Amino acid sequence: MKPGPVWLFDLDNTLHNASHAIFPSINRQMSAYIQRHLALDEAEAQALREHYWHRYGATMTGLVLHHGTDPAHFLHETHQLGDIGPLLKFERPIRRMLRRLPGRKVIFSNGPRDYALRVVAAMGLADAFDDVFAIEDMRYHPKPSMAAFRRLLAVLGVRPERCILVEDSAANLLPAKRLGMRTIWISRQVRRPPHVDLRLGSATGLGKATARALGPLAPR
Ligand SMILES: [Mg+2]
Repeated sequence: MKPGPVWLFDLDNTLHNASHAIFPSINRQMSAYIQRHLALDEAEAQALREHYWHRYGATMTGLVLHHGTDPAHFLHETHQLGDIGPLLKFERPIRRMLRRLPGRKVIFSNGPRDYALRVVAAMGLADAFDDVFAIEDMRYHPKPSMAAFRRLLAVLGVRPERCILVEDSAANLLPAKRLGMRTIWISRQVRRPPHVDLRLGSATGLGKATARALGPLAPR
């Protein structure tokens, strides 16, 4: 096992700009799925999708809880993105930053595994990560549920004190902090919540600045 810190990277809107084209496509597919399976019109389906997103942090969770939807079927049907390359938007220096960063690097994404692997490959980062921990690995209990974090720690066999979570969602950083992880928020917002150790405008800024702000990155 690699020495040093264990970097946990959220994927969407942390390492690439999912809001540019990928999220709009997935959202359309999710609304269409809800329309088909729950026999709703377009506006009703969209409203329900947004309601579950706000309430549970994942549309899938609301559908599973209230409509008995099969999460694997739902995620497969709503992540049909074809050639992902033209939809991707990300900062190229992210590749160099990740290769230089010391320690173990893990993708920790609420997305399905197949989708996460395709994005990472299309970004040219297939060799940059040691593990990918996706929604299937969380048994479909997405971040910020504590279950997702405990499962990740058990599967990776690491203590939370060694982990640094890099995330665009401040809500997802809260359980990480409670467990004793260090937390880096990727955000353009100026106000930093108390459970955030460091805020960066872009993940490309990880590296020396991070080491200074978080202290030694050796195992604690
Ligand atoms: Mg994200």
